[in-house]
Amino acid sequence: MGEARKKILITNDDGYLSDGIKALEEALLGLGDVYVVAPESEMSGASHSLTLSRPLRIRQIDERHWTVDGTPTDCVTLALNQILAPDIRPDICCSGINLGANLGDDATYSGTVAGAMEATILGVAGLAFSLVAYRDHDFTESARVAREITERALRDGLPAGTLLNVNVPKGVTNGLKITKQGFKSARPVISEHIDPRGKPYYWIGEERNGFRAEGGTDFEAIDEGYVSITPMRSDLTNHSVIAQLGDWNSHE
Ligand SMILES: [Mg+2]
Repeated sequence: MGEARKKILITNDDGYLSDGIKALEEALLGLGDVYVVAPESEMSGASHSLTLSRPLRIRQIDERHWTVDGTPTDCVTLALNQILAPDIRPDICCSGINLGANLGDDATYSGTVAGAMEATILGVAGLAFSLVAYRDHDFTESARVAREITERALRDGLPAGTLLNVNVPKGVTNGLKITKQGFKSARPVISEHIDPRGKPYYWIGEERNGFRAEGGTDFEAIDEGYVSITPMRSDLTNHSVIAQLGDWNSHE
């Protein structure tokens, strides 16, 4: 008896119609049965938010494609507990390919990373893929890398509770590097404008000044032309500080 066909769930935060999710789906089709559950519209910056204040609608496009009018976290939660359940249990959840980097602190804002994290929390291995490009994007190389990494993760498995945040540089890459999350050097820039009714509105942007120079980070790997693979988990505890704050412990 042959091994059962792998089942792959795809989501993203750029929305169902983005070029990145289409490139990812195409790249993964040969690895197993692919199911896409993605946001109806762009949800970049949604982070790990779950929609609790309004109802959610699921729209089925065809046998393997659905949209949700919510966040990537909503998509993964509904995929695993409503849309695919109980018949289909994915072996892996791939999120992306995001148009734009999710490096350093920016990973905390990322809906792409959150999609993979939600899967991990629900017991399905999670991979997040981002292309470090903004305007002149070509997903060819990042899709090839996504397939290579997904294939390996399906074959070898991932350590429990671990997701991989994968960032792919533009163009041909020098190889893969396992990295740690770095720190960007940037400051928020708020633009104020006036709407047609005379009221001010605001747009959050930032001015970037590179990244903090430190060996082994995601930023460094991308700077050197490597694919950055940062193992992450949902546990936000700063473990090394527990002992340091030991004398805060008290009892009445
Ligand atoms: Mg995005």
